[in-house]
Amino acid sequence: MRSVKEFHNIPLKGSPLEYVQLPVGKGGLGVACPKNTALLTFLVTIMKKLWSSDSYIRKLYTDYLEEVAKVEIGKFEVNLNDLAEFLSDERAVDSKLFGFNAFTRVREVVRSLCKNKDSPLHSLKIIEREGKLAISVQATEESIEKIFTEDQEKKLMYLLKGELNTALQHRFFTQKVFKSEVMRVVQQHPQSNSFVRNGGKMSFSAQRFVHPGRLNQLPCNYNTWAKGRTKLCRRCAKNENETQSHILQVCDYSIGNIIKERHDAVLYKFRELIKRGSKGHWLERTDRTVPNTGSQLKPDLYLESPDGKHVILADVTVPYERGIEGMQKAWNEKIIKYTDGYKEIFRRQGKSLVVLPLVVGSLGTWWKPTEESLIKLGVEKTTVRRIIPETCGMVAEYSKNCYWRHIYGEKYIQTPMINGGEKPEGNDWKKCKKGIKVPKVTN
Ligand SMILES: [Zn+2]
Repeated sequence: MRSVKEFHNIPLKGSPLEYVQLPVGKGGLGVACPKNTALLTFLVTIMKKLWSSDSYIRKLYTDYLEEVAKVEIGKFEVNLNDLAEFLSDERAVDSKLFGFNAFTRVREVVRSLCKNKDSPLHSLKIIEREGKLAISVQATEESIEKIFTEDQEKKLMYLLKGELNTALQHRFFTQKVFKSEVMRVVQQHPQSNSFVRNGGKMSFSAQRFVHPGRLNQLPCNYNTWAKGRTKLCRRCAKNENETQSHILQVCDYSIGNIIKERHDAVLYKFRELIKRGSKGHWLERTDRTVPNTGSQLKPDLYLESPDGKHVILADVTVPYERGIEGMQKAWNEKIIKYTDGYKEIFRRQGKSLVVLPLVVGSLGTWWKPTEESLIKLGVEKTTVRRIIPETCGMVAEYSKNCYWRHIYGEKYIQTPMINGGEKPEGNDWKKCKKGIKVPKVTN
């Protein structure tokens, strides 16, 4: 576990183990705890023998279990309920009488998975169900109790692992609220994490930035606990704490350059996709005020259908992942801003208005509704799927540069971006090439 953390540049102290242990699809690093895996494997192999369809094996193990239980509990006859309680470690036993055996180990498994301090599961018991032994698992206090019988024998390992992950995730989300903020966003779209499995579209330097970043553990003034050290930003005069979100979103040192570049890079990428999509022939303006409206708002993308009856306003935003709520807030703000600003004006002009926010999290997470927005902007579904890892990688790359530039100042030399591509220099790409004429509306 330690080396996995080291490899991913996660601080060894104070970083949650759950982040390492949870599967990649759930936002973790997918390295299951070897101890828990060994415990579960042992439990499963023993249960498989007790449930075996081969009567010889079944009898051998059942008789063995009965013998051990009789000796250790100190009874002449034992029934199935006794056996279940014996295996669940609910009976007082004298384990010295028989010596260490397979069933001592089963009791140890039960203890370490649910009874010790820091055990992952809420409860794990062997019970009697319809004349046979079965396993009862309850992942957390709130979750329902699940019972696995002989019928689930083949999938037992998979099912038990699932319960273990549910428990880990629950503990991570409820007890480590700040460190799991970003992971909750990753979970709503697991592709944001696909690079962990295949390296994908994320450079090594960005990966080394993204993992501590997603855990809210990047070294910065606010994240230090040293006494007497300032928590204020080292670069700007805003008198704000130097938090991760300050560095990546609002710091005066970066907002006019790299933060804007990050936004524009996403905008450029989406704009190119839209141009090649089914709405490529719509009248399009980028980052300008909308003519004939008198409004000073500049939507990132203004699309008007050739018949002039439908208008789509799209706006890119790259917020910090303050949980699902933070992302939703960024989304809603865009909708409110442009609906309030334009709806009435376009209604008077007889045009329908659709506002489509395009949201990508600054630590390389994809906000699911953005997919729908792009499809409504005429981009093919398959194309959207393809560009998600690229876009996430690109944003992480910009954020990485933003962070290191903040720490090192002008000494920091930006590394070239290999993944996802950069936007062209300057603002020329925002201009319409042929200078499309906007017709005057007569009121
Ligand atoms: Zn600052």
